[in-house]
Amino acid sequence: MALTSPDNVLPVRLPDTMRAAVLCGPQDMRVMDQPVPRPGPGEVLVRVAMCGTCGTDLKIYDGHFPLTLPFGAFTPGHEWTGTVVAMGEDVDEVGLGDRVCIEAHHGCGRCNNCLVGKYTACLNYGNPSKGHRATGMTANGGFAEYALHHVSSLYRIPPQVSYQDAVLLTTAGTGLYGLDAAGGYIAGQDIAIFGPGPVGLMTVQACKQLGAAKVILVGTRASRLEMGQRLGADHLIHAREQDPVAVIRELTGGLGVDLAIECSGALETPQQCAEVTKRGGKILVVAFYPGPVTLDLSSVVRNDITIYTTRGEGGNNVKRAVALAAQGRLRGSELVTHTFPLEEITEALRVMRERIDDPIKIVIVP
Ligand SMILES: [Zn+2]
Ligand SMILES: [Zn+2]
Repeated sequence: MALTSPDNVLPVRLPDTMRAAVLCGPQDMRVMDQPVPRPGPGEVLVRVAMCGTCGTDLKIYDGHFPLTLPFGAFTPGHEWTGTVVAMGEDVDEVGLGDRVCIEAHHGCGRCNNCLVGKYTACLNYGNPSKGHRATGMTANGGFAEYALHHVSSLYRIPPQVSYQDAVLLTTAGTGLYGLDAAGGYIAGQDIAIFGPGPVGLMTVQACKQLGAAKVILVGTRASRLEMGQRLGADHLIHAREQDPVAVIRELTGGLGVDLAIECSGALETPQQCAEVTKRGGKILVVAFYPGPVTLDLSSVVRNDITIYTTRGEGGNNVKRAVALAAQGRLRGSELVTHTFPLEEITEALRVMRERIDDPIKIVIVP
């Protein structure tokens, strides 16, 4: 079928079917032919250039992530980028051939939280009939040749931003949204970042670019710490060889950091954040944990420390990430260590889970 398009662009002829990874049961992902979705009002169809994988995809793959679509009808993948190939009739914000990156979340736009911009905390989360969609979680995502998304959750990327850079901008938006929620203005502040995964590494860069003084990166894998250094971290702490609390206190004249950012999801790190944050400072938590966390909350209160948490990449912060990337201030491509074709997605997830060859970001190319 041919779809309508702006006068200056030829209509794109879309195939009826595409290859897509479908989660058919716990740890049962099959790549199969699926219909190519057609965009309705407010929607854009994107030819996926690549889609990142992350720890959330492993939870989804294992079959225990809340609010996903039913087995047999669900394509995961929430960190994708690509080219616009069709739009709903009312969409004029993007054009055919535009290269775009995404936020995973599209809020309903009608609940109280969405009205104040907190759409990753949409009160209609997981309710498509109210207009909410989270790609690759509550709606079909980017482990496919084509993906549908709401136009409000797409950002055009300029030519100097490669798809490898763009595929990390959803991730960068998570760190930037957290910084935004925690006050935003970090120039001159000392910051400790726990967890040099993709979120932590993009946040290292963001903190340096926003004028932070010392950025101290704490992790357990030397290769990731070295990557953090290349991306701007001033001090590295290998948590298996050094005590992060003692080293951070020493680096900050005994006071602690202004802001500790928890990106690791390890059960012991929130307490370490509490111990390295200076009196009156802030802790920002953007990770998910395998279970309840033990934290000496009294010491947090005694020291007048404020804890912030944010989910995902809200507050229009992917737009900020695009701007930083366009200026060469956020580099994503260096984090892309592994690329797999869509047909090998099960192998890609195995490599991520078993940490074969020390992957940082594994991307799927459909
Ligand atoms: Zn993710
Ligand atoms: Zn909402």
